[in-house]
Amino acid sequence: MKYKEEELRDIPRGLYSYIDDKPFTHCIECEKFLLSEDTEYLVERICKNYPEYGTTETIFDYALCMECAMKLHSEMSLESQQTLQNYFMKNIDLESRNKIKDNLSIGDSIANCVVSGKPMKDCQEYQVCAHCVGDKVYMGNPPYMLSGNVLEEIMNLLSNKTQDMMNGFYSRHRTPTPGIYEPDPILVLV
Ligand SMILES: [Zn+2]
Repeated sequence: MKYKEEELRDIPRGLYSYIDDKPFTHCIECEKFLLSEDTEYLVERICKNYPEYGTTETIFDYALCMECAMKLHSEMSLESQQTLQNYFMKNIDLESRNKIKDNLSIGDSIANCVVSGKPMKDCQEYQVCAHCVGDKVYMGNPPYMLSGNVLEEIMNLLSNKTQDMMNGFYSRHRTPTPGIYEPDPILVLV
């Protein structure tokens, strides 16, 4: 096991599959089994808040093994890969994030948008991304949250080719239910 014990935490219910309320078991793209030790994958969940009802709706969630995540990332245009990298370097204070990460709970790490600082409860939409290993969350690269506004800003920076690739990913995997998928979720692979 190449991960330090203290870097691994149990997967919280907030990162379970919305459909069956259990940890994800398979990669959405290649069906690889994820819960064996040392298997790395990403869990992403896109949610919408309804403050008037005090509820949150999951719009789309999935797990993607690291091989598939890398493959999708490589299908982005080089220009978009560079744009994303620059955007996150400019807008995320990785240094101070790294300093506090040892004491960070999963809840703390996703409580605010990693770019804008906006609290989750104040976001109309948001996306949470977690790096997992087997049945644990890997805190060496702690989960983060992106607010809908930031996701929109990022999407507008990406090339048409990359946007098409992302739309292809979502249309392959999500069940079309007109109306509830506004705005489009965005795949951010960082
Ligand atoms: Zn896969």
